[in-house]
Amino acid sequence: MQDEVLIIGGGVAGCAASIALGRRGRRIRLIEREATPRHKVCGEFLSGEALEDLYALGIDVVALGAVPIPYVRLAAAKPAVEAPLPFPAKSLTRKTLDTALIAEAISSGVRVERGRSVQSLTRTPAGMWQATLDDGAVFEAPTAFLATGKHDLRGYPRPKDPQRWVAFKMYYRLAPAQSADLAHASELMLYPGGYGGIQPVEGGIANLCWVVQQRYLAGVGHRWENLLAKMQQDCPHLAMRLSGAEPLLDKPIAVTHIPYGHIRRTTEDGLYCIGDQAAVIPSFTGDGISIALHTARCAVAAFLAGESAPLFQARLRSALLPQMRLAEFAADGLNNALARAVLPFCLRIWPGVMRVTARLTRVAAGHTTAVSHAVAD
Ligand SMILES: Cc1cc2nc3c(=O)[nH]c(=O)nc-3n(C[C@H](O)[C@H](O)[C@H](O)COP(=O)(O)OP(=O)(O)OC[C@H]3O[C@@H](n4cnc5c(N)ncnc54)[C@H](O)[C@@H]3O)c2cc1C
Repeated sequence: MQDEVLIIGGGVAGCAASIALGRRGRRIRLIEREATPRHKVCGEFLSGEALEDLYALGIDVVALGAVPIPYVRLAAAKPAVEAPLPFPAKSLTRKTLDTALIAEAISSGVRVERGRSVQSLTRTPAGMWQATLDDGAVFEAPTAFLATGKHDLRGYPRPKDPQRWVAFKMYYRLAPAQSADLAHASELMLYPGGYGGIQPVEGGIANLCWVVQQRYLAGVGHRWENLLAKMQQDCPHLAMRLSGAEPLLDKPIAVTHIPYGHIRRTTEDGLYCIGDQAAVIPSFTGDGISIALHTARCAVAAFLAGESAPLFQARLRSALLPQMRLAEFAADGLNNALARAVLPFCLRIWPGVMRVTARLTRVAAGHTTAVSHAVAD
């Protein structure tokens, strides 16, 4: 039987869209290049909105071992400043989350092609979307969802990343006292050229995830060991957290080219772009997964309501723009030397600012288009 929709990329956004469509009896083919979910560079913080969307998709994060995160700390200097988060939050490794999402897609009737990579996506003269795979297979459908995250696909190049960001993730087993101290908190750490976060995840371990601009990495000879040492020098709180910690991966996993602030302007008929293909929010907000789920939900609703892909993409852009610009503004502040100079003052007001920023950089319920509401409910 002819597929109705091809979904390229089986991460958060692609799985969410395929589950929603599969449950409605639509004929969906999801193509994911990894044979099994792998570790991804991600802080693994799940905001309140992300938790709601995951719950609606049938993903029980508590049963999967998610750790409650009621507090956030800013650790640019000693002592760190703590504030309660203004929404429920949890943390869960991407490997666990992505595994559960793919399983849910399969049980929703989605035809899942795993370990197969889409090499190109083109439109035929008959108006069909045609995906050509690395093994030469070709799949066609009248509609496609592009959900390849930050990876580009031939014909759909990535937006620019002028700051040339590099991101890393490493798991640690912390020393018992540090582990107890970190429990239930997500800690944001600042240093020149970037920022990082550490938080507990399931299995009694901690995730340290950090970003830095290429030129700062160049300053330490492009070596992550040197960078980590420099970060600990600049941020004694991190040095304290990592003292006696056991690294659990041979080396951090890394990703380059992160076009923070990108929001897709246009698309072609029949091609809905979701997740990081729709928008890439600065990582410190911990909101990328929520946006991926939100954009998937909106795209499904738009598709079911017959809203054209170009109209959907334009509306989504307008809806996400204020949140994105605010997050970028806040991220610039984190990386600004002047802001660092006034940090002692900022720290005094930080808990309040954090609460407000956290609230403002969430995807608001009103951001769903009217047509999406009608179908999504
Ligand atoms: C440093 C950093 C920290 C972050 N921390 C957080 C956080 O704490 N909380 C949070 O909410 N967000 C965070 N994010 C953002 C979050 O990780 C992303 O926004 C989210 O993963 C986007 O989901 P997605 O489905 O668009 O992409 P992904 O989850 O990356 O999925 C894309 C999928 O497409 C597949 N794929 C790619 N190309 C092809 C192809 N050609 N053919 C077939 N399959 C393909 C990939 O294998 C992948 O599985 C962070 C991001 C970074 C960089």
